[in-house]
Amino acid sequence: MEKLTSAASPDFLYLSVQINMVLKNTGNEIFTSVRELLAPTGKKIIVIPHENPDGDAIGSAIGLSEILKNYGHEVKIVSPNDYPEFLKWFSSEVKVIVYGKDKKRAKKAIEGADILFCVDFNEAKRAGNLEKKILRFEKPKVLIDHHPGPVEFCDFTISEPSYSSTAELIADVTNRLGLKEFIGTSAAEALYTGIMTDTGSFSHNTSNPNTFKVVSELMQLGINTSRIQSNVYHNFSASRMKLLGYCLFEKMEVFPEFRAAVISLTQEELQRFDFQPGDSEGFVNYPLSVSNIVFSALFIEKEGFVKASFRSKGDFPANEFSREHFSGGGHLNAAGGESNLKLTEAVGLFKQLLHQYKHQLENTII
Ligand code: 5GP
Ligand code: MN
Repeated sequence: MEKLTSAASPDFLYLSVQINMVLKNTGNEIFTSVRELLAPTGKKIIVIPHENPDGDAIGSAIGLSEILKNYGHEVKIVSPNDYPEFLKWFSSEVKVIVYGKDKKRAKKAIEGADILFCVDFNEAKRAGNLEKKILRFEKPKVLIDHHPGPVEFCDFTISEPSYSSTAELIADVTNRLGLKEFIGTSAAEALYTGIMTDTGSFSHNTSNPNTFKVVSELMQLGINTSRIQSNVYHNFSASRMKLLGYCLFEKMEVFPEFRAAVISLTQEELQRFDFQPGDSEGFVNYPLSVSNIVFSALFIEKEGFVKASFRSKGDFPANEFSREHFSGGGHLNAAGGESNLKLTEAVGLFKQLLHQYKHQLENTII
């Protein structure tokens, strides 16, 4: 019979080394400073997610706010703009002020704050209409984020691109700050949501066992994972599902010779399907389910500009593509950007660019 792998085997050592590689970019002095900053409780803290917040941005903001509130601070979230209905079910009672809807209250909250926490973005620009408010804020600012290439706009930068999600990172930062006991069920539920959504329900970005270690710890706090899954993914309107069907049946163009695909939607089409914010979340992933496709793009006509989303497989850099051609950025395999071209021109540019990237796309290993 074959010998079972022993605890001292190289496989086991490799795994334990990976698990211990947590927070590898962040020096001790940052944790010491942030710990000192938070030690006198009763501070007014504002947590800011990025513009058009997704599950990780909102989950991270709520999770962190809950932890800081339980520790004894007065915490509010200020979001640059509104976020989708499928992210509005959290048990947390932390106040979320939407700057786009309530500028006066948001402004007052930020100006009266002692500390700002920015979560799930790597440059102030990603906070949209809150960019200037963040840059002008003179008291301590802390960034907690997992996007590569952070810009230094905060006093304390905790940037760990190897993490699946900012939510996973917040769980480890909390442990490292010695605040683990303040993660209650509401924080755990929000952080789990961030991890779940940024990994597409644990289907990508899950090569690091630390993700599952954190998930396991969060689950021990009594969260209902099937209800969370249901709240986020089984909560769509019928018109959103029809829009998805329309995209796949009528709008998806597949270019096997470039291993790429594109979907685009005009304002008129969105209106036909009673489009609500968040309805197109996830659409860009579908073409990657077509055999051999490694690069997918979604272009949506907005008022005065075109929003672009890119997803890739293997080492094809969606973020570099977006940065180079669509003023955007993001992760290696998930990026976004925008264009001032007309929708048809933006799609035309994308198709044209595929020629330039043909060799790289052909050689992408998945
Ligand atoms: P999505 O396609 O879901 O909008 O975004 C995918 C990823 O790209 C997310 O990590 C998001 O933070 C990032 N991203 C989306 N839009 C932009 C953008 O306009 N600029 C930059 N730098 N990143 C973006
Ligand atoms: Mn994220």
